[in-house]
Amino acid sequence: MRVVLATANPGKQREFAVLLAPYGVQLLLQSSLGIVSAEETGDTFAANALLKARHAAAGSRLPALADDSGLEVDALCGRPGIHSARYAGPVVSDEANNRLLLAELQSVPDHERTARYRCALALVRSADDAEPLLADGVWEGRITGIAAGEEGFGYDPLFVPAGMAITAAQLSAEQKNRLSHRSAALRQLLERLPAWL
Ligand code: IMP
Repeated sequence: MRVVLATANPGKQREFAVLLAPYGVQLLLQSSLGIVSAEETGDTFAANALLKARHAAAGSRLPALADDSGLEVDALCGRPGIHSARYAGPVVSDEANNRLLLAELQSVPDHERTARYRCALALVRSADDAEPLLADGVWEGRITGIAAGEEGFGYDPLFVPAGMAITAAQLSAEQKNRLSHRSAALRQLLERLPAWL
């Protein structure tokens, strides 16, 4: 099955390619088809995933898969949430986002630094698919005070998964792919796929 992946984020591309490899899904990147990223105007992760998938399907005339994901920090009332990519400003920089997160949590004690990654996935057969396949996944953890690790992307150097003493950026790609919000959402999507096809 050929599916267009509606993301320009290289970290996500790597993770999806590994996660979908065993299912015989051939992922085409929307950028390789000349499709520019859709504007994320939705107010939920699911709404944004769906509009990105429809946009990629419209541009490619192929089935399209999109995710929308982000970090919810309890002490920040769920921020940065759907604005995670551009938390520190319109120019996307993981370092700037992480600096701002540490600054905002400076006076927040350890036990109040709980957070979670969320991922919503949307798969559509075509741009106007009336029955898209939706799935979601969550990864619980907390935000550490000192960045650590070189793996992963985004907030991984600050995100300590629940029950662990190391950050997501200190996990191997294989370990992260077993635990992450994206893999949880993808597992749900794959469970529902046979009935949807
Ligand atoms: P999106 O491209 O609008 O879905 O933006 C997602 C943003 O959430 C990314 O740019 C990261 O800042 C953050 N994010 C989502 N998933 C992860 C992850 O697995 N690790 C670290 N940051 C993530």
